[in-house]
Amino acid sequence: RYMTTAEIREKYLSYFEEKGCKRMPSSSLIPDDPSLLLTSAGMVQFKPYFLQQKQLEAPYIGTTTVQKCVRTNDIDIIGTTGRHLSFFEMLGNFSFGAYFKEEMCAWAYDFSVNVLELPPERLYFTVFEDDDETIEIWKSLGVPDDHISRLGEDDNFWRAGPTGPCGPCSEIYFDQGPEFGCGSPDCAPGCDCDRFLEYWNCVFTQYDGQEDGTLLPLPKKNIDTGMGLERMAAIMQGVQSNYETDVLRSLVAVGERLAGVTYGDNADTDLSLRIIADHSRAVTFMIADGILPSNEGRGYVLRRLLRRAIMKAHLIGVEGHFLNEYVDEIVRLMGDVYPEIVENRELERKLILAEEERFGATLRQGQAYLEDALGKLEGATLSGEEAFTLHDTYGFPVEVTQEIAEGRGIAVDMEGFEAAMEAQRERARAAGAKDAEAAWSTYGGIYADLLNEFGPTKFTGYAATAAEAKVL
Ligand code: ATP
Ligand code: MG
Ligand code: MG
Ligand code: MG
Repeated sequence: RYMTTAEIREKYLSYFEEKGCKRMPSSSLIPDDPSLLLTSAGMVQFKPYFLQQKQLEAPYIGTTTVQKCVRTNDIDIIGTTGRHLSFFEMLGNFSFGAYFKEEMCAWAYDFSVNVLELPPERLYFTVFEDDDETIEIWKSLGVPDDHISRLGEDDNFWRAGPTGPCGPCSEIYFDQGPEFGCGSPDCAPGCDCDRFLEYWNCVFTQYDGQEDGTLLPLPKKNIDTGMGLERMAAIMQGVQSNYETDVLRSLVAVGERLAGVTYGDNADTDLSLRIIADHSRAVTFMIADGILPSNEGRGYVLRRLLRRAIMKAHLIGVEGHFLNEYVDEIVRLMGDVYPEIVENRELERKLILAEEERFGATLRQGQAYLEDALGKLEGATLSGEEAFTLHDTYGFPVEVTQEIAEGRGIAVDMEGFEAAMEAQRERARAAGAKDAEAAWSTYGGIYADLLNEFGPTKFTGYAATAAEAKVL
């Protein structure tokens, strides 16, 4: 049964409201929590409740929200899978010692099978390693044995950051069909491919993680759940990718119009269209919540997303000021649910325009240098030093260098490039730059931030992001 994103959002919130949960607004993308860089899950605003520092007023048994989330840990796979976005909406319900596993599993099953009318034979359930209790609960609801599996910490122990409320979890997957899988005989829920689509995580929040790694039991047993709205929309709309759901497909269409291309014609172009659609939404919401582009912290994440969107647009022939076309469409599509993006529209437009101007100028200079280098080239390989100069002096992303060179049948010596990069990192370290991020922004030219997505070194700029990247 087809459902719009708006219908699913409302059905979820009213379902849990009827169960006795208080419907609360999404919190800001800027968390009220120094251990986190950005709000990456629905539970973030409820940490004080899990810790019993705050109490929910009677007669509510819990809360339910749709939460704006930005995740940096998925950034380099955005658009390459159908299910990962940098910005997404998470539907959730939360219990602070009132209801627990038994009720939650029953409701998750009922909502999936009776409200959304998902066919039970396509649902799969995972539990944390030794959680026999939850296996029994799923079975009692009619889930057959061979649709339940056990997974380890990586998948089924959930934490928002290095410390704080956390616990084992149980997740629900929708089988999109073998044709969307990796084909491996081991393909099963938890596989990285898109066949088994994880759509709902039910966390049994029982611990308070300490700095030293120990897990102290929380005073009460809690529930923290998260369902990806875009993922559910893909299921309900019969499409395999989040990018083909109503809201995101409209943003892909903005790119089609601007670039004069058709989605589905060319894999590289499609990837760019997906990335721009995703990143434009993230930056619009981030600016609306008061984040400004900068070279550190969350402003750095914003700048990275902005520049990556601009670069991807450049690759498909869209230049000049174009991102505001996306902003207008995002405001039209989502402004009724998130009035902050409407109220801050002028700020969003202005900041994006300024960044487009700065970044666009650099892209053009780098391109002129590259044209010159390619023109003078003897042989079929552009040297690593040349690619490095483009990066270092012109701030030209090596990915773009490769793209353009390869278009002329010319390879880029990536080993030489990596060696030059490594030498640069050494110099930065020797110069006493405190961390990798500082090194990049000090020595790497203004695009250095983009580079680490394609280089061998993962972004480890500051503790919160590194922690998020590890545990989410
Ligand atoms: P995956 O394994 O697919 O990366 P996850 O296990 O990291 O997902 P959780 O941390 O369990 O995701 O988040 C709860 C739910 O939020 C997921 O089940 C999914 O529906 C949704 N979700 C998580 N990350 C993303 C994302 N990057 N884009 C869209 N939805 C997401
Ligand atoms: Mg997962
Ligand atoms: Mg999960
Ligand atoms: Mg993930």
